[in-house]
Amino acid sequence: MPPVQGQRPEVVLLMGPPGAGKGTQAALLAEGRGLRKLSTGDMLRGHVDRGTELGVRAKGIMDAGELVPDELIVAMVRSEVDGMRPVRALFDGFPRTPVQAAALDKLLHDEGVELTAAVALEVDEDELVRRLEGRARQEGRSDDNEATIRNRMAVYQRQTQPLLEYYETRGKLSRVSGMGSVEDVFERIAKVLP
Ligand code: AMP
Repeated sequence: MPPVQGQRPEVVLLMGPPGAGKGTQAALLAEGRGLRKLSTGDMLRGHVDRGTELGVRAKGIMDAGELVPDELIVAMVRSEVDGMRPVRALFDGFPRTPVQAAALDKLLHDEGVELTAAVALEVDEDELVRRLEGRARQEGRSDDNEATIRNRMAVYQRQTQPLLEYYETRGKLSRVSGMGSVEDVFERIAKVLP
């Protein structure tokens, strides 16, 4: 099926450490640009809540702040993108490892779509911890406790941060300050997107 007129493919990645505000900004950006928000964290929490086989496998891993195996994540993402015409997606929390980044490259190549942009939200570490502790009180996410938060930060630095360079080398990355109000951050992101 040809793309709907005026609807060109668009794929944006929202990256950054836990607590940087990816989820909030992803929702606003998806709405503003007419993109489908694909948050692997939300999808996984949905599986946990529904008690699916994937959810049962993922729960302990998520509660420990570790990463769910690449092949499970890639299959989950692929099934969301399959049949999307044109592909208009905003990824929140994906890719998180080099294997996932390579799988995304392949997926986009198979779909004949070019990555539009990757945006990395940057927030001071003290502020990240403050936000995550606030979210723990408000939302009661089972992975927002101190030990898990610390591990998620370490996992981010070890496994996901190197990906920023991967996109930077390809001229796709914009680093944006995630400090300040939701509106200010949203405006900064809007300015760097093509
Ligand atoms: P998030 O809501 O993005 O902070 O994700 C919550 C948890 O879900 C993470 O700490 C991981 O355990 C898991 N998760 C989410 N996205 C991914 C991904 N792309 N790869 C591996 N694990 C993920």
